Amino acid sequence: MTAKFRFAPSPTGYLHVGNARLALINWLYAKKVGGAFVLRLDDTDEERSTEEYATGIQQDLSWLGLVWDDLKKQSDRSSNYQAAFEKLKAAGRLYPCYETGEELDYKRKRQLSRKLPPVYDRSALKLTDEEIAAYEAEGRKPHWRFLLDQEVVGWTDDVRGSVEVDCASMSDPVLIRSDGRPLYHLPSVVDDIDFGITHVIRGEDHVSNTALHIQIFKALGAEVPGFAHLPLLMGPDGGPLSKREGSQSLRELRESGVDPMSINSLLARLGTSDNVEARGDLATVVDGFDISRFSRAAAKFDPAELKNLNARILHEMPWETAKDRVDLDGADEAFWLAIRGNIDVISDATDWWQTVTGPITPVVEDQAFLDKAAALLPDGELDEGSWKAWTGAVKDELGVKGKALFMPLRQALTGKSHGPEMNRMLVLIGRDKALARLAGKSA
Ligand code: GLU
Repeated sequence: MTAKFRFAPSPTGYLHVGNARLALINWLYAKKVGGAFVLRLDDTDEERSTEEYATGIQQDLSWLGLVWDDLKKQSDRSSNYQAAFEKLKAAGRLYPCYETGEELDYKRKRQLSRKLPPVYDRSALKLTDEEIAAYEAEGRKPHWRFLLDQEVVGWTDDVRGSVEVDCASMSDPVLIRSDGRPLYHLPSVVDDIDFGITHVIRGEDHVSNTALHIQIFKALGAEVPGFAHLPLLMGPDGGPLSKREGSQSLRELRESGVDPMSINSLLARLGTSDNVEARGDLATVVDGFDISRFSRAAAKFDPAELKNLNARILHEMPWETAKDRVDLDGADEAFWLAIRGNIDVISDATDWWQTVTGPITPVVEDQAFLDKAAALLPDGELDEGSWKAWTGAVKDELGVKGKALFMPLRQALTGKSHGPEMNRMLVLIGRDKALARLAGKSA
């Protein structure tokens, strides 16, 4: 049997790092075991799901490089959910309930005020045929609850180890709303069955759902997949992730110049005891992946760590990769190799491109010195040896050395006090612009 994984976002918003982590881990696990990865769009909530978010999710996953083998939309599958509904009903596992939202609210409040757990009391199970007929005559439409076996459901979780959930303390979940639309549980289980999902990896906020899903799998006569529940991402101080810290969307991160491989490198190791290493491609991330390395303790996401990783990845990035990421007409490998060590985010390359191609305003403190230095610029085509030859000549002729020699030249040629190695910058800037800048002109 082929291992099959799925990532199941609801297209009610853009993906953020927490979602990306789940997508990535499912994808990595699938690749590691030669399995398949399904993207499932949980778009049954018609009011909140939009085409824009559905497209946005696909763009963001593609940007990360998490290519899916199959794309499914729950909105295409209502007849499958209807069939499962009929099957569960015939098996006596669904019962109609006629309480209104207010009535249920009232019951819950009464239970809470008596310090009782707010568990549904199953009163709808006791309705007589006459009572049901009376509700129907009133025009009330039922919602349908799944009759839970009141037993302990257990599984061996790939992250949490042995898990047991006592379903006796849970309300029978509503599977179908009174308008006939299924809620999350039934479509999720039906899809996992129909698509042959062998491993369900999701957030730990789904642990109690898993207990009831296991009962639904069994009630539908299906094999129960394996489960792993990952702890949610926390901010660097252990509190919930704030917008500033990284609950920001992937597209915001992309716009801020973050490279997808820094996100992948970080998220693939966060919450494990493995070191986070800067990885330039997904294949090497797959190699080191092992679900059992993930701990059940909360994983802390630190944007400073992401930034640092991003810089490290850019510093090593080959031009082959970088050329699709920098959008600069005429930029070439020589430019990239010169500047990659001096950027934190890809968009910083634009500033260096501007520095190279100009116009820039030279920073000039001592024009007379620059004039004399300009006269010593080697003849012929400039190459990477020219800077050394030139500064050597300036040192010999003018008796200036160290910072007093290099800084005025750098400032005149680039308008900045720091930056990439000047032997490369000089070649990129070229003789004409170099002479103009040394003469104090904007070029
Ligand atoms: N759409 C659900 C969510 O985003 C899917 C959960 C699951 O993986 O089953 O929470």
